[in-house]
Amino acid sequence: MPILKNVKRIVVKVGTSTLTYDTGKTNIRRMHKLVSVLSDIANSGIETALVTSGAIGVGVSKLGLKERPEDTPGRQAAATVGQCELMFMYDKLFSEYGHTVGQLLITKSDVENDERRENLINAFDKLFAYGAIPVINENDSVAVDEIVYGDNDSLSAIVAKLIRADALIILTDTDGFYDADPGSDEDAKLIPVINEITDELYSAAGGCGSKFSTGGMVTKLHAAQIATDAGIDTIVMNGAYPEDIYKALDGKQIGTFFTGNRK
Ligand code: GLU
Repeated sequence: MPILKNVKRIVVKVGTSTLTYDTGKTNIRRMHKLVSVLSDIANSGIETALVTSGAIGVGVSKLGLKERPEDTPGRQAAATVGQCELMFMYDKLFSEYGHTVGQLLITKSDVENDERRENLINAFDKLFAYGAIPVINENDSVAVDEIVYGDNDSLSAIVAKLIRADALIILTDTDGFYDADPGSDEDAKLIPVINEITDELYSAAGGCGSKFSTGGMVTKLHAAQIATDAGIDTIVMNGAYPEDIYKALDGKQIGTFFTGNRK
């Protein structure tokens, strides 16, 4: 069974559905657990980066809107509000465990332009050298058209590749990747290991996110493809139990393991 080995640098991605309740408000208990686990992992000497969604979802709730605005300026505005709240929470919670966070808001053009990508990598490397925990989101208040990644699953894989991480963990609201939709098919089975991402897997992925979020399993597959192509082992697992990240790092079976392609 493939397992994570020798992880020195890790990217963990958390989505809106893990961070918030159905009301759209932050799930403080879960955020707290996640932050305590990530702080502990960082304490063990693993350089840890967090890619977080939730800016738009939390902003929508904080502004008292009933749902995600359909117009782009509405989503931009919600993101400006929600991003502040998110970082306030992360700063406060990580501080409780003696950690310092640095916020990086990224757009696709920052990664695709050679010079800006280099600058970005330098900023990441320096943050790690200073012992801080980078917290990353897409810059949703300015990344609005075709230059947008649009989903943080892909963004997390791009970041993992950018910073040469050894592992990517994508937290989601199911136990991993199933061969059918577990919400509607009771015979759906969790796939523990995926060595190759095929068209059949993409058709099994179907569906999309909740009323506050963007992703779904298709974007997770896409992310796993980007990361594993870059040789990065990727695990998709349930974000409701952040302590399970320890199991992944201890080499135990958890969620779905996508094996990085060793060149
Ligand atoms: N960047 C978006 C946000 O923070 C989330 C994108 C996603 O859900 O993947 O609201």
